[in-house]
Amino acid sequence: MSIRVLTARDIAELVRQVGIDKFMDGLIESLETTFKKWKQLKVTPRVSFHYRQGVVEAMPASDDKWYTVKIVNGHPLNPSRGLQTVVAVAVLVDVETGYPLMFMDATLLTSLRTGAASALATKYLAREDSETLGVIGNGAQSEFLAYAITRVANKLDRILAFDIDRKATEKFTRNMSHLGYTVESVDSPRELALNSDIIVTATASPGRNRVIEKSWVEPGTHINAVGGDAPGKTELDPELVRSSKLVVELLDQALVEGEAQNVGREHVYAELWEVVAGIKPGRTSPQEVTIFDSVGIAIEDLAAITYVYSLAKGDDIGTTIKILPETSNPKDLFSLIAKPLQGREKGFLKNIKLYEN
Ligand code: NAD
Repeated sequence: MSIRVLTARDIAELVRQVGIDKFMDGLIESLETTFKKWKQLKVTPRVSFHYRQGVVEAMPASDDKWYTVKIVNGHPLNPSRGLQTVVAVAVLVDVETGYPLMFMDATLLTSLRTGAASALATKYLAREDSETLGVIGNGAQSEFLAYAITRVANKLDRILAFDIDRKATEKFTRNMSHLGYTVESVDSPRELALNSDIIVTATASPGRNRVIEKSWVEPGTHINAVGGDAPGKTELDPELVRSSKLVVELLDQALVEGEAQNVGREHVYAELWEVVAGIKPGRTSPQEVTIFDSVGIAIEDLAAITYVYSLAKGDDIGTTIKILPETSNPKDLFSLIAKPLQGREKGFLKNIKLYEN
């Protein structure tokens, strides 16, 4: 049986063929559909091993049809040696047989699904009349986040940006202009927060940071906090988190990795799937401040990987290769390494003879 192999280039080609708007809309929808059937999923926090150099994580998830696992890293010093901070690969397995069907780069997919997850949260938590999006941290994830949010926040007509690295904001501005958006660079995170209806924080600094202070946030704001995603690595003023409607992806993971680690479970309002499935209401007043505490969970990868698989299979994208052993008798795996060889039996018998002597 063949396995489909998708490189990052194949996935980029797939996005181009489908069209970026249609691809992102379909991805957000796939996340939404998957979250709605949460009770039928097999869900677990990721397994993370921490090293001096960074972290390597396995992220398994499953429904009754598919099993997926993503292996992803986080190595902050990699760019100084010409390598990316985050890269990922993923495998899709057919639950019926246990056979793997696809092996893929998941680096690009991680950014796309991170954007889609924040878009989904924005759809349920932001004010419908939100007009201004502010993005703090204009690195690798920023365009994916901003672009995905524009797909669900239909009244947006202004994008503000701030980064301690001006070049990052220039890059963000350039890339967003390719999608038809004008970005205004602001001088401080305070200015950005005071003027935004929806805020994204996607900074990458170790430690418990306060990228946004509570006093800067206007009533009615929705915040997607994306960069606080590891033990001891957070972005928001804990007072802001404590006084807002806090929605996490998976409570047990958020309490270890997210903004929730600074405030405790009693301040968590819901897991996002509960809001999406209508078990708990999302925003209930135009005045409340809502926070989506995003750390990235395996269920989002399950939704993204199966979505890409259906598209790639339909359009025959990628290559198919035979990796698994093929035997005419499924019980005879050993024959692959031990075909009858001339003289082998003879030697074996000779040994027995020696033993008998
Ligand atoms: P990146 O290194 O490419 O970009 C981060 C940017 O933040 C940089 O441009 C940096 O200059 C800027 N920055 C750092 N401190 C700042 C501050 N105090 N104020 C303003 N800007 C600041 O990283 P990335 O790949 O874009 O990832 C951003 C963050 O998102 C990381 O922390 C990463 O771990 C996290 N992440 C989360 C998810 C998720 O699912 N929640 C997924 C992927 C990445």
